[in-house]
Amino acid sequence: MNEYYENIKNKTVCTDCGGKEMAIGYLWEGNGAVKKQTTLLGTTAYKGASNVLMIICNKCGLVNKSYVFAR
Ligand SMILES: [Zn+2]
Repeated sequence: MNEYYENIKNKTVCTDCGGKEMAIGYLWEGNGAVKKQTTLLGTTAYKGASNVLMIICNKCGLVNKSYVFAR
């Protein structure tokens, strides 16, 4: 999986500043993870669903791509 995203990172060009140097970032577990809306005893609740991997421009910081993947 890391190699897969590494390839994507290498061919991503920033849509904002045109930069070609990208970094990979993660939103991992806890607060950063994508939550799935559900209900708990009749009230709205959120259940941890997935982590997020982001392709971030090293020059301007724009998140050019983000991917959700199951843990
Ligand atoms: Zn940029």
